[in-house]
Amino acid sequence: MNMMLSGQSPLETMLREKQIEFLLASYVDMHGVPKGKVVPVDHLDQMLKGSELFTGAALEGVPQSVHDNEVSAMPDADSVAVLPWKPNVAWFASDLWLDGKPFSACSRGILNRQMKSAADLGYTFNLGIEAEFYVLRETEQGRIEPVSPRLLSKPCYDIASALDNVEWLTELVSAMNGLGWDVYSFDQEDGQGQFEIDFQYANAVAMSDRFVFLRMMANQIARKHGCFASFMPKPYADRTGSGAHLNMSLADLASGSNLFADKNDPRGCGLSELGYHFIAGVVKHLPAICAVVAPTVNSYKRLVKQGSMSGFTWAPIFACYGNNNRTNAVRIPSAGGRIELRSADSACNPYLGAAMVLAAGLEGVRARMDPGEPNRDNMYEATQAELTARGIRQLPRTLGEALDAFAEDPLSVEVFGADMQKSWLDYKRDEWLSYSAHVSNWETERYLKFF
Ligand code: GLU
Ligand code: MG
Repeated sequence: MNMMLSGQSPLETMLREKQIEFLLASYVDMHGVPKGKVVPVDHLDQMLKGSELFTGAALEGVPQSVHDNEVSAMPDADSVAVLPWKPNVAWFASDLWLDGKPFSACSRGILNRQMKSAADLGYTFNLGIEAEFYVLRETEQGRIEPVSPRLLSKPCYDIASALDNVEWLTELVSAMNGLGWDVYSFDQEDGQGQFEIDFQYANAVAMSDRFVFLRMMANQIARKHGCFASFMPKPYADRTGSGAHLNMSLADLASGSNLFADKNDPRGCGLSELGYHFIAGVVKHLPAICAVVAPTVNSYKRLVKQGSMSGFTWAPIFACYGNNNRTNAVRIPSAGGRIELRSADSACNPYLGAAMVLAAGLEGVRARMDPGEPNRDNMYEATQAELTARGIRQLPRTLGEALDAFAEDPLSVEVFGADMQKSWLDYKRDEWLSYSAHVSNWETERYLKFF
């Protein structure tokens, strides 16, 4: 028996035992949407060596120089995941290569480069992403509505609404746990039809792989139940938006021990000096980071003070940090030992977002930057005089403003590389221009007969 299996890798043995027929060599485009090809399992070895080629012209937002070229997907064998809803298919996250080298514009590669910078300083970067999203149903008349019919002024944590959705919710959560992601809670969120699922953190590359996979899986499973999942950041003006808060810490590369925890923190937030340096770098670059973690026109309709059933949106509007205080862009949760970036939303390409934040944080660490005292009061109620006195800037109000900040901040070229920075920015500027040129119902209702 052993003779017959000689030459078969443990990976192939696992795939054969699970009767996998097809493999997905998957990578993400600039939006963090998975793309790839399907490979029969007999071709595993070739696939792992990068046999799957993709024409650059088919990818959005990649540098013009690769339009007439082909990139190849180099699958990461450690990322293998059997699709819980299609158990004959196994998925692999891949890095893109070009001409025998890592492709500089690959999102996963961009994060890997920052992970390498962290490793050079002796750190690994851990990340947890809180997944918020809407699950809605399209009626026969084409109306979009929440699955639960309950009309509540404050739907957050409503058990009956969660139970009305329990079929798809429990299938999704069981699938996540089957993949070893360790979900620790899920609930009906603040917007009717909105849910949040929280699961264990991992290193930033593995967590980004999971978030990309989760968006796809949530949709595939919701559709089995006659609904769909929406990761649009702010689908309704009067309901809270969907954040994808990035919970982050640096750990010692060798031992894995958390370097952001400090019970004796003189500021009383349970965070180490290293953590404060990291925060200072992030806050310094927040406007540019915003363009990447809140990457759509719609994202900026979430980053407002009001527009939620429960009063506040709990999404940030200022570039500042605080203790366990949800009105700041960066929060130190009560247990300490990590920091949370609240400006990130559900449409974020997690590799690019994590790479920007890590690079900014490491700049703060290298320069031992001090972020000042944490804001402990409700920032939504801060007056302009208080903001000016504390030197606090507003976050970008539109995608256009965020793109200007991204273009002006040298961090964007440092992280993306010059070619990808330009092509990403060109694509996003077009998106913003297209929106700006569009005439909305709001405008016709207000102005058509006004003058
Ligand atoms: N939904 C809120 C947001 O857009 C966050 C609510 C929470 O703190 O969980 O960021
Ligand atoms: Mg939430």
